[in-house]
Amino acid sequence: MEATLLSHASTSSIDDAQTAKSPISDAPPCFHLLAKPSGSTCNIDCKYCFFLSKEALYPNEKHRMSQATLEAYIRQLLESHRTPEVTVAWQGGEPTLMKVEFFRHAVELVEKYRRPGQSVKHTFQTNGILLDDEWCEFFKQYHFLVGLSVDGPRELHDTFRVDRRAQGTFDLVMGGWNLLRKHGVEFNILCTVNSANQHYGRSIYRFFRDELGARWIQFIPIIERATEQTIQLANRGWSERAGHKRVLYTQTGNLVTERSVGAKQYGLFLMDVFEEWVRHDVGRVFVQLFDVTLEAFFGRHLLCIHAPTCGLGPALEYNGDLYSCDHFVEPGYLLGNIHETHMLKLMASPEQRKFGLDKRDSLTAQCRSCEVRALCNGGCPKDRFALSRDGETGQNYLCSGLELFFTQSRPAMETMAKLLRDGRPPSDVMAMTAIEDKRRGPYAPCPCGSGRKFKFCHGNNASRRPFDPASGEERSAS
Ligand code: SF4
Ligand code: SF4
Repeated sequence: MEATLLSHASTSSIDDAQTAKSPISDAPPCFHLLAKPSGSTCNIDCKYCFFLSKEALYPNEKHRMSQATLEAYIRQLLESHRTPEVTVAWQGGEPTLMKVEFFRHAVELVEKYRRPGQSVKHTFQTNGILLDDEWCEFFKQYHFLVGLSVDGPRELHDTFRVDRRAQGTFDLVMGGWNLLRKHGVEFNILCTVNSANQHYGRSIYRFFRDELGARWIQFIPIIERATEQTIQLANRGWSERAGHKRVLYTQTGNLVTERSVGAKQYGLFLMDVFEEWVRHDVGRVFVQLFDVTLEAFFGRHLLCIHAPTCGLGPALEYNGDLYSCDHFVEPGYLLGNIHETHMLKLMASPEQRKFGLDKRDSLTAQCRSCEVRALCNGGCPKDRFALSRDGETGQNYLCSGLELFFTQSRPAMETMAKLLRDGRPPSDVMAMTAIEDKRRGPYAPCPCGSGRKFKFCHGNNASRRPFDPASGEERSAS
């Protein structure tokens, strides 16, 4: 991850990447590839995880990356980069299914093929369940940044993140978290926002901050698309546990499953977190979307989802197949196989370039004239299946929530941007917010939009109490 004004994120837009030239005309100088060494195979069975269904792309095969594919991948990745920093990012499925030795060899290969002056960062996304001392010693030794998937406190996490017997996985994940902490491994929390936890933004954020000691947090909205024909099947989940053969998930249909986050609620969730963060944690806790939004005020777009264009986040399957994006691992977006065509050539292909530019070129009229377009840029194309206010197809399903977040957080973001331009730390915004809170008074409506008085909402700084669904403690607006 690259350093940002507040913390770090990754380069993700074609526009940002055009600063250095590659020997292949039109090839991006850098990109952020997600490699899936065990394909989509996982040791648990999260109900919303449509990635599990991707096994159907490669039936009757053992989904494990071979040594030959590993070597081709590392060599080509390092050869492809024209920037001094390269990220080797492992994802799944669940990459710990590959055992530590596989990744030791990956690190050796990085050393073998790294050019002088090239520095390499290793990242690793895991559900944490198979972690042990050996894994954590390895991560520590090679400075891996580990992403741990947690959806909040036990009651919320266990709703959808279950094992093959439909049992919650919270305790197992906390075992992995304990080991990461014990070994001093740098970690961030990846939390999905779904229909079960969407009302508890601040409560979840406080849990990560106060109980897990997290300093880097990323929120990802769950949006599972379906058609009239597939919605019933989709609502049953992508598990084989549900008593049916998995169907391959593709980005089609304009319906969403019961597990998906509500559009406006996603914005309320983000504001619930933001109003807590902007009062207590600027410069101390780093929330990816907040970081990248502030960066956008300086014309830098570090997250593909809110960059004008995309196409720099390909996904590599265990067998060397390269797809346009991790969210488009489906036949129509297969660029080719790295054993047959160098990945730089695949990244420079007209198909991939079009994929990235379509993000900008397919914006609806509503997006093109939107007040917060420079921050939002229409969001991810995978989520553009709703109707715009004028009835145009291709509007982002999350639009109402994104508009709410980018509009309501804007005054504080502008203040932080100004502070930075004046050579002051953005954390000074916290003192300025406190003055404004005092001026408004404790019984004025809370700025988060919950409808509650400030004193009983974001003005209440009591440490987090156990989550109580019955009372709706710390519940955000709905
Ligand atoms: S399709 Fe979405 S997730 Fe994929 S690269 Fe584009 S913006 Fe990013
Ligand atoms: S907030 Fe909505 S209208 Fe505005 S750019 Fe984003 S998706 Fe488009």
